[in-house]
This record gives sequence, C-alpha cells and structure tokens, in this order.
Amino acid sequence: MTDELLNTVIIGSGPAGCAAGVYTSRANLKPVLITGDNPGGQLVTTPEIENYPGAMGSPSGFDLMEKLQQHAKSLGTEFISDKVVKAELKGPVKTLTLGSGRMLKTRTVIIATGAAPRYLGVPGEDQYKGKGVSACATCDGFFFRGKEVAVVGGGSAAFVEALFLTQMCAKVYLIHRREGFRAEAVLVDKLKAKAAEGKAEFVLNAIVQEVKGDGERLTGLVLKQQGEVKELPVSGVFAAIGHLPQTELFKDEIELDKDGFIVIGKGSAQATSEPGVFAAGDCSDRIYRQAITSAGSGCKAALDAEHFLLA
Ligand SMILES: Cc1cc2nc3c(=O)[nH]c(=O)nc-3n(C[C@H](O)[C@H](O)[C@H](O)COP(=O)(O)OP(=O)(O)OC[C@H]3O[C@@H](n4cnc5c(N)ncnc54)[C@H](O)[C@@H]3O)c2cc1C
Repeated sequence: MTDELLNTVIIGSGPAGCAAGVYTSRANLKPVLITGDNPGGQLVTTPEIENYPGAMGSPSGFDLMEKLQQHAKSLGTEFISDKVVKAELKGPVKTLTLGSGRMLKTRTVIIATGAAPRYLGVPGEDQYKGKGVSACATCDGFFFRGKEVAVVGGGSAAFVEALFLTQMCAKVYLIHRREGFRAEAVLVDKLKAKAAEGKAEFVLNAIVQEVKGDGERLTGLVLKQQGEVKELPVSGVFAAIGHLPQTELFKDEIELDKDGFIVIGKGSAQATSEPGVFAAGDCSDRIYRQAITSAGSGCKAALDAEHFLLA
C-alpha cells in the first residue's frame, strides 16, 4: 500500500469490522482494516458459539472469527496488525495515526471497536470466565439449562437477563447491592411474579466478594449481605453491570451518548455526526450486542460508506 488517499478504513476486526470488510471489498473500495490489540474481537475466547446462523456444530469463537477474518481477506480487505491511537475525523479527508506512527488518509472510516462488558472484579472471576462466569445470558444461558444461576445488577439489563434465564434455568438469583432498582418497573414486576412461582429470588443489599469453583467450573459465590458473609451455591453467574464502549479516541470528533456509545442514524442507518464516518457493532449498540447483529450493522455501515462515496 502506498500513501494514497484510501476509500475506507475499518477500525476493528470483530464481527462488525469483518462484515464491513467483506462488503467494502466486494464494492471494490480496497478497504484497509486495522485489527486492534484483540484480533477477532470479543468472541475469540468463547469456547462454543451456538447462535450464529449457519455456524452449526458449536464452533469455538476463535474458529468462527478466524473464518470471518479469512473471508474478508480473501475478498481483498488489507489487514494491518496495529491499533489506531489518534483519529482526526473532521472534514473530507480523515487521518488515522497507528501505534507504529504510520498515518493513513481516507475518505471514509468505519468504526467497529466494540464494547467491553464490565465484570465484577472479584477473586476467582477471571479463572472461571467461560466456565460459569458470563456477561451475556443470550449467549450463554443455554449452557445452564435446569441449573441454578445468579445475575448481578439492578438495572433493566440485569432484569432482562434474569427473566430470559428463568425460561431455562431451575432458579435465578438476582443479586443487587441496594434495596431499590434502576430497572423499569414493568421488568421488576415480571421478575417478582417469577419469584412468586419459585423461579427467581431477590438477594438484596448484597455484594459478591468471591467466585468459588472446583478448579474446573464455578460452584458458588461468596456474598456479603448486611455484614454477614454467606455462600450461595450456583452453577453460573452473569454480570449485568454495564458495558464500556471502546470509543474514548473519538470523543472530540463525533457525537457520543452519555455512556460513550457512538450516536448513529445521522442521515443513514450507521452514519455518525461526522459525514463520511460510520459506526457498527457494539460500539454503537447498547441493546442487542450479538455477533450477528454486529455483523449485520457492519454490512449496513459498508453500504452506507459505498453510497456516501458515490454521492
Ligand atoms: C464472553 C462473551 C461471550 C459471547 N458469546 C456470544 C455468543 O455466543 N453469541 C453472540 O452472538 N455474541 C456473543 N458475545 C457478544 C459478541 O462477542 C459481541 O456482540 C461482538 O463480538 C461485537 O462485535 P464487534 O465487532 O462490534 O466488536 P468486538 O468483537 O468487540 O471487536 C472490537 C474490535 O475492535 C478492535 N479495536 C478496539 N479499539 C481499537 C483501536 N483503537 N484500533 C484498532 N482496533 C481497535 C479490537 O481489537 C477488536 O478487534 C459474547 C461476548 C462475550 C464477552
């Protein structure tokens, strides 16, 4: 690659970035994709993916993302193993500075930098990630069919996760550090109804202090509830205490919402507040946060970029 003015640079190599690579390659835009520190994105550490349409046989997240990356490469997306450390996005020519010091000039940018789930930050948690500790009930709930699990959090997301899990788990404990909830009242009422049926239980004014396991899998949680330390035997725990969009780099360049998610829909589905800059995947989605929705929005961002360049 020379120092020419590029058509499009994709930032991120998760499902959103790879899908954008596939579509911009096929539109002959000769896209360049910057992988970031985490090639393949959030999914690469997940042992089994069962809900990506077409990916039957429960491939590992690593294998699925390897295929998505190869697919984009095979169609012509140029991958650069580096990360963007500075983004100047205003005006018709955008400048991206990479960790190596190299600068890329481009007419459009597709931001697909993802969002990191917030975990509890307690002893044992890292050891049992993927072995009982999760941050996504839609992704992992199915692996806990018939088992007792806990959800930690007091916002709407925690209640949605807990209600989802009551459909397949023997019992769901909702652990919250306070008495009151930030969640929508309708969700609270629904979970209370499940509690009345014995499918859920509220554990309030409680803080998780430790994740316990047998070396292979999580077996329970150590809680501190109103000064008393107790153990709650469960097979899984779902952290539902928010996500951190990876968008700090862009905060002075495009509009972000109060939690740092990129605001889109500015004229086309994935368009940001700055013409020629598009966003896709978890960095601009606080609701769905799935591989397939990220890939779908990556496709839309690519088509938006193509239409922008044609205009
Ligand atoms: C443990 C776990 C299990 C999950 N299981 C499932 C599942 O079973 N099914 C499902 O559909 N979803 C699952 N998800 C959710 C899914 O992983 C995400 O919705 C999806 O990966 C989001 O894709 P994305 O492309 O938006 O971002 P990500 O996958 O987060 O990728 C972001 C990319 O941006 C790059 N990046 C960040 N900053 C920079 C920078 N400055 N410069 C360059 N690159 C940068 C990173 O290196 C990375 O490649 C799971 C998530 C987790 C955490």
